[in-house]
Amino acid sequence: MTGSHGLDLFGPARLAFNYFLGHVDRRTGRPFMWTYLLTDPPKLAHDAWDTVEELGRYLEALVPLRVMTASDEGRDLELALRDKLVAQQKEDGLIYRPQTSYSAHVADVYDQGSAMLGLAACCLAADDPVCAEAIDRDVATLSELARWDGDDYARFDHVAVQDGRPLARYDGQVLETDNPEAPDAVWLGRLIRPLFQYARASGREEPLVLARALSRDIALRSGGYGEDGSFSRAREGEDAVWTVGHFHSRTNTVAGILRLARHTGDDDLLEWGERVFRWALAHGTRFGWYPEFIGRRDIETEGCETCGVVDMLDAAIALAKSGRDDCWEIADRIWRNQVLENQLRDISWVRSTRTLPDTETESFDGVPERARGGFAGWSGPNDLISDFRDPYFSALDPTQDHRRSLMGCCASSGAKGLYLAWHEALTSTEGGVSVNLPVSRDSDKATVRCREPNEGRLEITMKHPGNLTVRVPGGPDRADVTVERDGTPVDVSWRGDFVELAGLDAGARVVVRYPLEEHTETVTVGGRDFTTPVDYRVTWRGNTVIAVDPPGRHCPLYRRETDARNAPAAEPPVGPVPPNEFDY
Ligand SMILES: [Zn+2]
Repeated sequence: MTGSHGLDLFGPARLAFNYFLGHVDRRTGRPFMWTYLLTDPPKLAHDAWDTVEELGRYLEALVPLRVMTASDEGRDLELALRDKLVAQQKEDGLIYRPQTSYSAHVADVYDQGSAMLGLAACCLAADDPVCAEAIDRDVATLSELARWDGDDYARFDHVAVQDGRPLARYDGQVLETDNPEAPDAVWLGRLIRPLFQYARASGREEPLVLARALSRDIALRSGGYGEDGSFSRAREGEDAVWTVGHFHSRTNTVAGILRLARHTGDDDLLEWGERVFRWALAHGTRFGWYPEFIGRRDIETEGCETCGVVDMLDAAIALAKSGRDDCWEIADRIWRNQVLENQLRDISWVRSTRTLPDTETESFDGVPERARGGFAGWSGPNDLISDFRDPYFSALDPTQDHRRSLMGCCASSGAKGLYLAWHEALTSTEGGVSVNLPVSRDSDKATVRCREPNEGRLEITMKHPGNLTVRVPGGPDRADVTVERDGTPVDVSWRGDFVELAGLDAGARVVVRYPLEEHTETVTVGGRDFTTPVDYRVTWRGNTVIAVDPPGRHCPLYRRETDARNAPAAEPPVGPVPPNEFDY
């Protein structure tokens, strides 16, 4: 909770700037991928991801945050990140990692998607010829690098390009930390979302053709997913492809494919993506906690990466917009619970008893303050930092707890999750507007105030004459829902979970009231495929989780009970009218 006015997206969005502005190394302009909050002192650390992936991911976050908050706070950093990415593009069109003590001079294929995520966001927000040219050149080279089968299928047989030579594998000399050594089609499926976004922003055909061919190869030929939508598992001895079972890359690929399938009207791909989405859904909790890996041999780490949470939100929205109404409900449970709770707000628990001078790769200066607003890389269902003892992290340094706390990628995904929930909550329809998610926000179409989790009440003020549809959360009995128009109860027609009001005047005020059921359930995490099942008692009020028991040990999550049960002290803030909202 962010105060006594209910769940708010603007406070979190404004706070997120603090993380990005504080996580860029002033000496090099490069972001820090890793934030360790359990070491003493806490620290930020660089690795190879910072040289391209994080540049792109930070940019991908700052653009929607700026639009949503109508603030120029991150604008200088945005431009610096953009220029740095473009400067790292070589004559061959690919964006290269520089040679540093923590990265080799290569153009990693996965990185091209990360860079494009940032550059495409710039193109979606405004005409940006610099970014458009950079993406065009990158796409042209990627299209040449891919192995095509006609126009319908494409796959990357290479992980990177170095010295003009495509690498089929990373060998020991240029092994990039954390990169899979051999190509994994699904891992590289993360290029689909930015290719599609850029195709939409630019109207160009080439990125759409490549995105579609990669999608078809992954869905129909790669073997990356089972018939039932499951993530394919590593076989014994397949250590090089550690990404098998990696939740974020599996679900990000699916979210991208679902967006593309909806856009191109490809029902087969849409059904395929829905199968994977629902399989993944069944392997997490109803409030949006998903494990970072599923089925990766014996190290099922019990941590949740915000990236995977937001991919599921993204996929749920794509399916909801394709007519799967229940997916609005799923999306609502994800953003208001694990997306919001995965953000670091309270830093009073972070322990620091000494200081150390910064090194080339690590920074120790004011880390908790710089970390506020970031998102968890490894949360438990009840804690910002999972309490699961991973043998890998435990072995790093016996004197320090090196469990990752925040990841740069997750900060970016968290920001994107805030934007997606905010943007998709209120959409235009033919002849009016639709309130799809109960989110307080303003726009040039209507103002929406939501009283959850204190009260099941949505208030909508129309800014233009027209029709209004409102999805009533929680699937209540229709008899328990009341609708008022300018203070007078009215009968409404229903379409699925939506109530419909036609012919409203500008300035009309509609209030929808619905019950918020409170109940407690036992949720078992790690019980399906994992080695250490843990039971949690989860208390819901409507779609909001307000308590999880037992509480976490480091930074307990879901401490919302008191705020949720008290009458709200203030009107829900709706934020500014955004000047240039774009479809993400
Ligand atoms: Zn992440």
